[in-house]
Parts: sequence; structure tokens; C-alpha cells
Amino acid sequence: MRPKGIIIAIDGPTASGKSTTAKQVAARLGYLHINTGAMYRAFALMVRRRKGHGHDPVRVHELLGLAEIGFDGNGNILLNGMDVSREVQEPDIALLASELSTLKDVRAKMVEKQRELGTPGGVVLEGRDIGTVVFPNAELKIFLVADAGVRAKRRQLEFERMGTHIPLEELRQQLEERDTRDRERAISPLRKAPDAIELDTTNLTIEGQVERVYELARERLR
Ligand code: C5P
Repeated sequence: MRPKGIIIAIDGPTASGKSTTAKQVAARLGYLHINTGAMYRAFALMVRRRKGHGHDPVRVHELLGLAEIGFDGNGNILLNGMDVSREVQEPDIALLASELSTLKDVRAKMVEKQRELGTPGGVVLEGRDIGTVVFPNAELKIFLVADAGVRAKRRQLEFERMGTHIPLEELRQQLEERDTRDRERAISPLRKAPDAIELDTTNLTIEGQVERVYELARERLR
């Protein structure tokens, strides 16, 4: 059972520290953590598995009707009941997710599920459009930013922990490509909500950024 509580929205560009912060803040508060990027990635995985569906919007729509996307009790992403948390980490899945997330019906389905999961409260959601579109009334909105070079380095370390080496320049190019697409898309572009608190994590430690967001949450709860 989830304790009743507030809705915390954490948005920001790729590798700005959203997942680490959201996960740890949720753990400290005893809240549910919802990584909405993982949901777009899970759908991208489904599209990639059915090769030939490519980017044909009609086919993508058909697949969307067959996709059951959610989380298990440990926050692992499920696609039609299967834990796909490892597969969704692949760089080409991130790029495909970024392309598919520009489509109106893809976003509509994900947003519906996110609202279903988040509406009871006691939840930390991270993504690109949480504070602007999914939960514009969230009690706490954070917009994380960080220098692109630092973000590429963080991604590189993440991949290295999984045993893969990817050159820094390649990662930087990929994240800039995704950020540009996220900022420029017509539907729900990446924007800081007017009432969001911006936090630059370039020179912050993980503990530092978690502490800051946790304190802001405690303030809202008082
Ligand atoms: O956060 P993550 O990098 O895992 O997200 C993968 C992609 O999904 C992003 O590049 C973005 O295009 C898309 N996304 C989105 N809206 C969200 C979360 C992710 O468009 N709320």
C-alpha cells in the first residue's frame, strides 16, 4: 500500500540526473517511482521486435493497441508482463523511443497510464512533460539541467557499468539529437513549467541533488 502523499514531477533533458534523483527521493519518502522514459523505451522495443513496422503510423497504432506497459513492485518496466529493464537501456532503443514519442497517439496512451498510476499521490514521476502536461497541478515540480559534456560523461559511466564502452563524442551527439527533437516536437515539447524549480546538477554530487529535492518535498509536505 502506498502512503498518501504529494505528486512530485521531475523533468529535464537526457542524463540531467532525473532517474537517480527520482529513484532516491522516492525511496526516502516511501513513494512510488515512475520512470516515464522507460515506458516510451518499452514501446520502442516492441516496435523494434516487430521489424517491418518501421515508422508507419498505421502499423505503430496497431502495435500500440497490443502494448501493455507498466511496472512491477520493484519499479522494473514491464512490456506485456515481461521485465524488459535491461533491453530498454540500449542506445538504439533510446533513439527509437525519441522518434516514436513525437507521435500523438503514442503520447496519449503513455500519458493516460501515467495519470492512472500517479493520481493517487505519493509518487515521483520523471520525464519530459510531467510538470507541463501529465500533472500540471503537481505539488512540486523540478526541472533538472546540466552541461552537455557532463551529461555525456554520466551516460558513458552508466554504459561502462553495464560492460559497454561507447565513445564520449558519440554519446554527446546522441543526447543532443534527442534533446533537440524533444524540445522541437509539436506535441508536449520539453519545457520548464513556469512554476518549476530549476536545479543545475553540473557541479552537484548525487547526494547533493537528492538532498535538495528531498528538502523541497519536505517543505511542501509541511
Ligand atoms: O528519459 P529517457 O531518456 O529514458 O527517455 C527516452 C525518450 O523518451 C526521450 O528521449 C524522450 O524522447 C521520450 N520521453 C518523452 N516524454 C517523457 C519521457 C520520455 O517524450 N515523459
